[in-house]
Amino acid sequence: MKLLGLHHITAIASDPRTNLDFYTRVLGLRFVKKSVNQDDPGTYHLYYGDYPGSPGTVLTFFPWAGLRRGRPGHGQAYATAYSVPAGSLAYWRDRFAKLNVAALPAEERFGDQVLPFLDPDGLRLELVATTETDSRPPAPSKDVPAEFAIRGFHSSTLALTDATATANVLIKLMGYRHAAQSEAGHRARYTVADGGPGAYVDLLVDPSLPRGLNGAGTIHHVAFRVATDADHVQAHREVTQSGLHISPIIDRAYFKSIYYREPGGVLFEIATDQPGFTIDEPAETLATKLGLPPHLEPHRAEIEAALPKLD
Ligand code: ZN
Repeated sequence: MKLLGLHHITAIASDPRTNLDFYTRVLGLRFVKKSVNQDDPGTYHLYYGDYPGSPGTVLTFFPWAGLRRGRPGHGQAYATAYSVPAGSLAYWRDRFAKLNVAALPAEERFGDQVLPFLDPDGLRLELVATTETDSRPPAPSKDVPAEFAIRGFHSSTLALTDATATANVLIKLMGYRHAAQSEAGHRARYTVADGGPGAYVDLLVDPSLPRGLNGAGTIHHVAFRVATDADHVQAHREVTQSGLHISPIIDRAYFKSIYYREPGGVLFEIATDQPGFTIDEPAETLATKLGLPPHLEPHRAEIEAALPKLD
């Protein structure tokens, strides 16, 4: 399987306007696609990332206004880490204090400073001030100076009661390799392809965490990248041969997707880099028009009328 790292991560939110404001204004990400949940077209699917919405930068949300909070814990992707330049955490700590963002105590992880914080629904996010080279350009933002801005994903941390079976899937099926282990042994880091920020998956075994419950503020799934349709078909074949239950290949308009649940309980997706978010609007005006897959286009008027206004 020829995975290149993380593609996107999808989470569950409550109020869509609060969600949009936090990721664009507070975090300085670009709103790259306003679409609908293809399994529930009365609900938005909102995407935030770098300028063109490059794979490895995009956090997406299904927001349901008034949805009860979930509980992050075992069996879930527990935390989503963004890469920021070394030395930028003081800026972010100040910014979070000014904007009443819930910041948690900073920690050191594999030599990098990490600032954990929560989004308005309690979703666990982290800024990793990485000492590794990360040449990905940030999204232009009038709110966050480029020297401090988010470069894209750093890693996804999965919380598990036992990491063995998940590590086996990462290594034997998905081509990941062990990269680091915490001294206490509860966090193991895996990487793939060229490695670096945007490729890492951490497996966290922390018996003090509860069992995860889905709801607002929790991750729905983690998607990994492949470059081509041929690599996607090959990945589908290899997951099928592994005996894990897998979805058929689904065309999500902006990428093709396959889904399977790893043995620790986390839903994984493998998605293609192409065609990307400029397939239905120009890069300069991403997320200004409601993006709909072709099969929903005939229902555009009624879908738009039913969705809450975002501005
Ligand atoms: Zn997805």
